[in-house]
Amino acid sequence: GPRPRPPGGSGGAVAAAAAAGGRPPRPGRAPRAQRPAEVPARRGGCGEPGVAGGRQPGLSALHLFGDPAEVEALRGSLLAWYDECKRDLPWRVLAVTEPDVNRRAYAVWVSEIMLQQTQVATVIDYYNRWMQKWPTLQALAEASLEEVNELWAGLGYYSRGKRLQEAARKVVSELAGQMPRTAEDLQKLLPGVGRYTAGAIASISYGQATGVVDGNVIRVLCRLRCIGADSSSPPVIDRLWAMANALVDRSRPGDFNQALMELGATVCTPKAPLCGECPVKQHCRARLRVEKELALASRKLLGKLPVVPDVEDCGVGGCPLCPPAAELWDSSLGVTNFPRKAAKKQPRVEQTATCVLERRGRRGALEYLIVQRPSSGLLAGLWEFPSVPLAPGLQQEQQREVLVDHLQAWAGQPVAAGSLRFIGEVVHVFSHIHQTYVVYSLSLDGDVTLDLASSPSRWVTEEEFRASAVSTAMKKVFGESWDFPPLHLLGS
Ligand code: SF4
Ligand code: ZN
Repeated sequence: GPRPRPPGGSGGAVAAAAAAGGRPPRPGRAPRAQRPAEVPARRGGCGEPGVAGGRQPGLSALHLFGDPAEVEALRGSLLAWYDECKRDLPWRVLAVTEPDVNRRAYAVWVSEIMLQQTQVATVIDYYNRWMQKWPTLQALAEASLEEVNELWAGLGYYSRGKRLQEAARKVVSELAGQMPRTAEDLQKLLPGVGRYTAGAIASISYGQATGVVDGNVIRVLCRLRCIGADSSSPPVIDRLWAMANALVDRSRPGDFNQALMELGATVCTPKAPLCGECPVKQHCRARLRVEKELALASRKLLGKLPVVPDVEDCGVGGCPLCPPAAELWDSSLGVTNFPRKAAKKQPRVEQTATCVLERRGRRGALEYLIVQRPSSGLLAGLWEFPSVPLAPGLQQEQQREVLVDHLQAWAGQPVAAGSLRFIGEVVHVFSHIHQTYVVYSLSLDGDVTLDLASSPSRWVTEEEFRASAVSTAMKKVFGESWDFPPLHLLGS
């Protein structure tokens, strides 16, 4: 999922590198060929046949990086900006100074796991302490889980630390201490390493020309290419991976990937992107669109007829990357029209009649009937007051009848609809259901025998009710019935 990587402070450990003003050398690391022979000098974007994520029949040029010269220019601008503006972070220093390839991959891996769900500023200190304590896979493999959890304390999502250690043990015991050498193998062989983390480790520590897609990359790419379809949908995610793989700079893939993420974290931010300062603004089609709109608006203001028709989408009918036709471009949002996530599904609206059935118990205390829900489905196995779902649109009288029918079985005696007392309505929102309980109460006289053939049920005192496995919704229902002048105080 998307990882927050907002701007943060820089670590003390990197002061030297920062002071050196520029990229620290990579001692002992074999220099990578600037342009390996098998890679053409200009490796292009999505529209170029033969390139990963290449030509897509039916996709408008609006969404593609079809011009190799533009791709090259974009890479250059982004990398130049990164070299100048990147935040100095301890793992970035290790990624370029650590000569041992396994140690380097391990250092990047630890940072990537810590950065999942956690902000850069928080991670720095944990990262430095971790790497000091366990500078190698072997050291981590020998640590106890207790120690790992202690160091992880406060970082959250504890299973991350545990899994990291388990994976380190696996590398040491099953892979002879050698980290898998490609993104594919990293993902395949290391527990807890997904597509993103594998791509990050492989590009940053091995120089493999493979892209990454995290929340920041999603945002930047969707804006660069006006992708407004649901950015969490599989076709869009696939398309973004193809784009990231095609765009990644062949000679500096790790820096390119970090640059793209850094851009999303510091410039192309979710709510207030700094387009004026953006190094790739001349390649950004969301920005182009905003500028066109402004130009159009000012022409209209001047009373001139628009010379360019207003373009609403890419012109491809049923385009899988454009926003749904119903969701029009919102001019007030500008470039933040992209990316879009599907609107949350509206919860289903349901109504349930429920009855607080009470009797005077043997010891004189009031008792309430609760019944157990089925062992599967919503609120499985929890206890509740006898309840029955109501069809939509029933009048109050009809609701009473439905409830009375349902209650006869429980009460073991005929119940007159008129003896039900309406208490009120209680609304409870489950994750996907907006449930309204229409609450009634009914006081029973005399001995009541329960039909043991139906669902499990029992009479409970108020205290027992509160101690029972009842849902929050039912506690609300019970509270509602107590907010009313209780039946038993009115006397009957
Ligand atoms: Fe993001 Fe604006 Fe740059 Fe486009 S121009 S990539 S919207 S910051
Ligand atoms: Zn489109």
